[in-house]
Amino acid sequence: MNISDRAGFDTLAIHAGQAFDPTTGAVIPPVYLTSTYVQDGIGNLREGYEYSRGGNPTRTALETQLAALERGIRGLSFASGLAAEDALLRTVLAPGDHVVVGNDVYGGTHRLIRKVHGGWGVRHSTVDLGDLDAVRAAIEPGVTKVLWIETPSNPLMKITDIVALAEIGRESGALVVVDNTFATPALQQPIALGADVVVHSTTKYLGGHSDVVGGALVFAPGQEELAEQVTFTQFAAGAVSGPFDAFLTTRGIKTLGIRMQRHSATAQLIAERLASHSGIARVYYPGLESHPGHELAARQMSGFGGMLSIELAGGGEAARRFAESTTLFQLAESLGGVESLVNHPWAMTHASVRGTEAEVAESIVRLSVGIEDANDLLADIDEALARL
Ligand SMILES: *Cc1c(COP(=O)(O)O)cnc(C)c1O
Repeated sequence: MNISDRAGFDTLAIHAGQAFDPTTGAVIPPVYLTSTYVQDGIGNLREGYEYSRGGNPTRTALETQLAALERGIRGLSFASGLAAEDALLRTVLAPGDHVVVGNDVYGGTHRLIRKVHGGWGVRHSTVDLGDLDAVRAAIEPGVTKVLWIETPSNPLMKITDIVALAEIGRESGALVVVDNTFATPALQQPIALGADVVVHSTTKYLGGHSDVVGGALVFAPGQEELAEQVTFTQFAAGAVSGPFDAFLTTRGIKTLGIRMQRHSATAQLIAERLASHSGIARVYYPGLESHPGHELAARQMSGFGGMLSIELAGGGEAARRFAESTTLFQLAESLGGVESLVNHPWAMTHASVRGTEAEVAESIVRLSVGIEDANDLLADIDEALARL
C-alpha cells in the first residue's frame, strides 16, 4: 500500500513501514529474528541486507514509521535512548567542542555529556533555556556544535520555545537537537518548529507499555549528510535495537495518537484536583492556566501530555509519604506506559544530579498518568492525599 505523505498522524502510525507480507499476505510483517542473510553469489544481496547490525527488516519498519511520524528524512533505532544520544554526539563532536544544554535536562543526558564525553574533551554549559539572552551568551560561536533542547522538561514541566531557540542555534551554526520524549510526535513536531534532529527514548510513550527499552533519532530535511554519518556510527559502534525490541516498539507506536489523547485528558483532571488541595503547594502541569509555560505550550503542542509534578506543602517527608501511599500509581522509575507510575525524583530518577545545577527539591513528586479509568486514578490520588 502506498500511503500519501499528507496522510494524517494515526494513519501514518499504523501504516508507514508496515506493508503486509507479500509471500503470505500476513497483515503484520514477520519479525525477522535473524542475524545474517543468504547472498545469491558473493556480495549479491537481497534487498540490501547483509548482517543485522547493519540492517534488519523489522528495524527498517520501525525506522520508516519513526521518520514518517516526525516528518523527517530518516529514522534510526537504537538499543536505548542514551545509545541514540551517544551515537549522535559521537558523530558530531570532537575534543574541544562545546554543547549547550538546559539546566533541567534529563539527568542521564547530563551525565552522558559530563562524565562520558567530558572525558574526551567535550565541554558543556547548562543554562535556563527560557532565558534567550542567557542561551545566546552561553553559545561560543564556531565552538558550540550542539544546542540541546528538552521540552516539556523533567520533572518541572518547563516549556521552552523551540522556534526561538532553533533560530539562535541556526544563527550560530550549532546543531539544534530536541529530545521529544515527553511530548511525542503526537503532540509536538520539533522538525516543523526548526529542529535539525529529534531524539527519543522510545522506552517511554512510543513503546508505551513498559515492556521494552529503546531509543531513536530522526533527521530533518537538509540533514541528509549528517543522517548518513550517524547511520555509519550506528553500524560501526553497533548500539542497534534488536528485532523483537523493534517489533514491540512499532506495535506500541500504532496506538500512540489515541493514547496521548487519553493521557492528556486524565492528567488534566488530576492536575486540577491536586491544584485545589491544601496539602499541595504547587502543581506543575502545562495544561493549567497557572503554569508559566501554558500559553507557549498551547501554541507549540497539540495537547499537554500525561506527565505532571507536584510540590508537597509538607516538604520532603510529605513527598515520600505521598509517593509511598498510592496504589494504582505504582512506585517506579520511568514513565509513559499505559499504567500509572509515581516517582520521587530527588531519591530516584534525579539522584544522579543531586549537588549539581539540575538538583530537584525533595518536596517534588512526579506522576506519569496512565490510561486506566480516570475515576479510579482520581480516587487513588484522593486516598493518598487523605493520608498526608
Ligand atoms: C528516559 C529518558 C531518556 C533516556 O532514555 P533510555 O531509553 O532510558 O536510555 C532520555 N531523555 C528523556 C527525556 C528520558 O525521559
